[in-house]
Amino acid sequence: MSRFSDHEGKQQQPKLQMNRRSFLKAGAASAIGMGILGAVNALPAKAADAVTNASVPQNGAKSKLHPVIDYGGASVRFVEHNDQWLGTSKLVGTVKNTHEAEMGFALACRGKLTPESQRGYYHFQFVMKHPLNAAIGGFAMNLAPEEIVDGKPSPTKLPIPDPEQMSQHIKDCAYFLRADEVGIGKMPAFAYYSHKMPSMDDMLKDDLTNAIPVTERLPYVIVVMIDQHLETMLASTGYDGISAGQSMRSYHSTGVVTVILANYIRSLGYHARAHHLTNYAATMPPCIIAAGLGELTRTGDCAAHPRMGFRHKVAAVTTDLPLVPDSPIDFGMLDFCRVCGKCAENCPSSAITFDKEPVEYNGYLRWNSDMKKCTVFRTTNQEGSSCGRCMKVCPWNSKEQSWFHTAGTWIGSHGEASSSLLKKIDDMFGYGDEQIEKYKWWLEWPELYKVPAAH
Ligand code: SF4
Ligand code: SF4
Repeated sequence: MSRFSDHEGKQQQPKLQMNRRSFLKAGAASAIGMGILGAVNALPAKAADAVTNASVPQNGAKSKLHPVIDYGGASVRFVEHNDQWLGTSKLVGTVKNTHEAEMGFALACRGKLTPESQRGYYHFQFVMKHPLNAAIGGFAMNLAPEEIVDGKPSPTKLPIPDPEQMSQHIKDCAYFLRADEVGIGKMPAFAYYSHKMPSMDDMLKDDLTNAIPVTERLPYVIVVMIDQHLETMLASTGYDGISAGQSMRSYHSTGVVTVILANYIRSLGYHARAHHLTNYAATMPPCIIAAGLGELTRTGDCAAHPRMGFRHKVAAVTTDLPLVPDSPIDFGMLDFCRVCGKCAENCPSSAITFDKEPVEYNGYLRWNSDMKKCTVFRTTNQEGSSCGRCMKVCPWNSKEQSWFHTAGTWIGSHGEASSSLLKKIDDMFGYGDEQIEKYKWWLEWPELYKVPAAH
């Protein structure tokens, strides 16, 4: 029986589901004939533009290598960054800097969740329950040392172009180094951790006395985003052997890009620190929002991108290199999350709230999903390595590349009524729940997924 039988109980009443590939082959005429997509039939000219990228708005400095931003058809508006708002997230008080040792996996490591979760964390940390995932994650550890992520800038400042041109150049560097998306934001001071966690030995003893205060405050953040791979996600359950591998794919790649970028900027004579999986001094969601690459979602602090949803990982460079920041974006994610709830229906640990509205949390409004429950599941999952089920089922993530999806994304970014329509279409076509076998390429070792017994 599926692990998700409880959650799927609601969904097991007969529901209209059809094969979308046949649908797509049949084309628009039959779709409209079925009365499914009157809305698509009536798409205004702007939607058609979105499909062809003809009127995609530009954010900040325009990259030469990636001149048209790919928002996947979403209708994107730019919003001001000020004291009351970070993008579309409302600030309602003082947002306190968080301690890295309070993050989900760190709590598991310190024994603050369950004993099994602590053993699971240890097992995950060192063997990642899957040899491929461990191979990628192990490589990322090479990028961890302080002298790799940070250092003194060159004492001589090289002449550089004006901030607009320099921003274009930095974006081009990131794309050249294989970023999927890059954005530049004003660095929110509250995004920095208050402290970095101490050594693994201290963490296992839950001793934070050697935690290191984070004192850096630099004005800009360059955020590098890499896709976790669409086809792999389409083939995965979201919680099987490749789950952590999808994260590691993007973590190690973004780490490499940001370490090189930071090193380059320091050689020009400016401060620059890379932040990536194995050495973050800041939490990434506010940086993603500030750099115009996403909005918060029902999952809590995960920020979704208009094209990839949250099928991505990011790393960043904080710097005082003179740059022109991008604006935060609004593509209707909050309206969509209000009516959707698909991640909550499918979460194996019931960590994601069904609340209609975001609530106050640490000085800002967010959906108060339970990161502790999520971490316990991810560290003790006996059917794979970690979990990304919410990422898989989210309608913003489960898109094949076609005009139909581009149009659907455009519809979904236009308020609650159109969000509701897109969610119904998504459910009807079985998006997110399915596994497309032809894309499955990795090997599974279920014997490695068990959490070792206590000694
Ligand atoms: S990653 Fe966490 S929140 Fe998302 S589906 Fe899995 S357990 Fe739930
Ligand atoms: S699945 Fe739905 S509710 Fe959850 S993050 Fe995605 S759009 Fe929001």
